[in-house]
Amino acid sequence: MKSYRKELWFETRSRRELINITRDVEACLTESGIKEGLCLVNAMHITASVFINDDESGLHQDFEVWLEKLAPEKPYSQYRHNGYEDNADAHLKRTIMGREVVVAVTDSRLDFGPWEQIFYGEFDGMRRKRVLVKIIGE
Ligand code: ZN
Repeated sequence: MKSYRKELWFETRSRRELINITRDVEACLTESGIKEGLCLVNAMHITASVFINDDESGLHQDFEVWLEKLAPEKPYSQYRHNGYEDNADAHLKRTIMGREVVVAVTDSRLDFGPWEQIFYGEFDGMRRKRVLVKIIGE
């Protein structure tokens, strides 16, 4: 069995941002040389997510509005976590949007359903953060 590991680094310009990382993950798969197996992609930080959905700007605005309803950023004082930090909302948003995705690898390609794309969801950005890509198979 082959095994491949890579870290992808991101630094967003705003506190919250959704980044399509499908091409980066595909590049990892090509580099791995693995034809059949599984590809895990996970955020390595507890205020960021990796998830699969549609690359459609209206939907991305809907995610922002929905997440702000569920876990509004402000006022910071509403959260017990916000003593030395101000990112309680980011922890909650990350939990809702998920930590990782697993995609099947078939015939050297990510075996997606229609319109599926992999996103990095940043909820407490403007600093360098990582995503882990681990691919195992033959
Ligand atoms: Zn925190």
